[in-house]
Amino acid sequence: MKKYDVIIIGGGPAAIVTGITVKKFFKEKSVLMIKEEADGLVPCGIPYIFNLLGNDAEKNKMGPKPFVDLGGEVIVDSAVGVDKSAKTVAVKSGEEFSYDKLVFATGSQPVVPVFIPGNDLRNVFYIKKSFTYIDELTSKISGFKNVVIVGGGFIGAEVAEQMAASNMNITLIESEPLCFSKAFSPELSAIATEALKKTNVKVMTSTLVKELTGENNTVQHVVLSDGNKIEADAVILSIGYRANSQLAKESGLELNRFGDIHVDNYGRTTVKDISAVGDCAQSFGFLTGRSDVIKLASTATAEARTLGHNIFGIRIKKCTAGTLGVFSTEINGLAMAAAGANEKNASDSGIDLISAKFSSPDRHPGGLPGMSNLTVKLYASPVDGSILGGEAWGGKSAGEIINIISLAIQKSVTVFELISYQVGTHPLLTSSPVNNPIIRAAEEIVFKMTYS
Ligand SMILES: Cc1cc2nc3c(=O)[nH]c(=O)nc-3n(C[C@H](O)[C@H](O)[C@H](O)COP(=O)(O)OP(=O)(O)OC[C@H]3O[C@@H](n4cnc5c(N)ncnc54)[C@H](O)[C@@H]3O)c2cc1C
Repeated sequence: MKKYDVIIIGGGPAAIVTGITVKKFFKEKSVLMIKEEADGLVPCGIPYIFNLLGNDAEKNKMGPKPFVDLGGEVIVDSAVGVDKSAKTVAVKSGEEFSYDKLVFATGSQPVVPVFIPGNDLRNVFYIKKSFTYIDELTSKISGFKNVVIVGGGFIGAEVAEQMAASNMNITLIESEPLCFSKAFSPELSAIATEALKKTNVKVMTSTLVKELTGENNTVQHVVLSDGNKIEADAVILSIGYRANSQLAKESGLELNRFGDIHVDNYGRTTVKDISAVGDCAQSFGFLTGRSDVIKLASTATAEARTLGHNIFGIRIKKCTAGTLGVFSTEINGLAMAAAGANEKNASDSGIDLISAKFSSPDRHPGGLPGMSNLTVKLYASPVDGSILGGEAWGGKSAGEIINIISLAIQKSVTVFELISYQVGTHPLLTSSPVNNPIIRAAEEIVFKMTYS
């Protein structure tokens, strides 16, 4: 039986970054990646296959080449058993490998709503992170006229926006009053929902799906709880993702109440020499320290880098105690991003916040070509002024502005420190130095804290 220093089960972003980090910093260590599909997809790019990438899944391929280039080994097979005492992994084809350290990076799978009758009819699909599945869906979808997408989170919404650019009639059904309500504050969720409504997507909020019906075992209608029926040649169910943790459970690893693999701050499970990382592993709220369900590629890769460095013993201290959930998207040309706390998630957790926002053109003077308005909203502790969250929306720079805010949260920067925050500005690239929206939003909070 072949023995490896590290075996990684999985082939998504968490597996790849763990593999690259281990091979880069511990060159002499042997690392095997066991992944069940030969070709992978850039998960975040999946919605764009349906329009911007020309209905071609090939253009969104992702593989472990950077890991292989560093000397990592890959086999395409499914891990089907782990013997934690013997320290071995069995794969479907019958082979067995032994490990010194084992990493579960088995990711997540779409939630199947067993409570919606008809969820198993033909032409009912999911947004799976599988090349083969999405490739097949891509070729089938162009044959449909009426497509109903259930779930107005960022995945359902992005897929709806992209599909609506073709001739299909796309209806998006969301049970909450607003789309994006898990990712954004109520204010930004309302802005995002409006942006979606300005596309060709027919958006139905506060609407519940009762069942899917059809003849010949094929979906034809989505029946709503108010009795109305929507015609559907295809339905895409996008109501969330759940950790793929069955193998971990069968291997004797502890799961939390969400089914995520229980890990500590360094990705170590309750079983010696076994770690878990990415969507399959538990994440902790950065303020509360309690278990949260945050499944993002940005989080998965940050956790994977931490694990890769520390897998043979802690050498680089993890600087944040929990997951911020830094997230960005673009709908109908409007970029929107969020990090950390907002009014809603803070009030759900009993956290006190003070907030302020500031908008300014992202060029100066504002009449320059390519200008968009950029709004930054900051959330801070009313006691010490430390930044606890932020949102940015407007032009594409919102995608990087949120990353600055994320760093500010992680380093506990206060609104008082932001008064002397030094930035570079240029007419063609940024807001004016007078109106940097991060600084001005921070100043608004300082004003509220000190003069009201
Ligand atoms: C449509 C879509 C858009 C998204 N957009 C964004 C975005 O813009 N930004 C962002 O941060 N996040 C985004 N996400 C979330 C992001 O994709 C996930 O957080 C990320 O994929 C997690 O990576 P992972 O490696 O942990 O898991 P996964 O990507 O789920 O990978 C797990 C891998 O493990 C393999 N595997 C599982 N079990 C076994 C086994 N027994 N043997 C061998 N292999 C196995 C699977 O085949 C899979 O390849 C998006 C997700 C989707 C679906």
